[in-house]
Amino acid sequence: MMENKVVVDRMRCCYCGGCVGVCPKDALLLEEIALSVDSAKCVKCGACVKFCPVEALSFQK
Ligand code: SF4
Ligand code: SF4
Repeated sequence: MMENKVVVDRMRCCYCGGCVGVCPKDALLLEEIALSVDSAKCVKCGACVKFCPVEALSFQK
């Protein structure tokens, strides 16, 4: 699982910002209409993936 990273499906994300609040590492950044994941900070806990109400986040290689 370590080679996986969290990616954002831009077609699904509605930029609600909820996932930003659940990340324990402050790895998610929401700017206007772009959500980005800082892979240097992300510890791959999966909290954001579980939280997102529209399933816009997933682990991918
Ligand atoms: S919780 Fe989901 S829809 Fe909301 S900003 Fe995060 S990825 Fe986008
Ligand atoms: S997997 Fe965990 S650490 Fe990584 S962005 Fe999501 S909530 Fe933050």
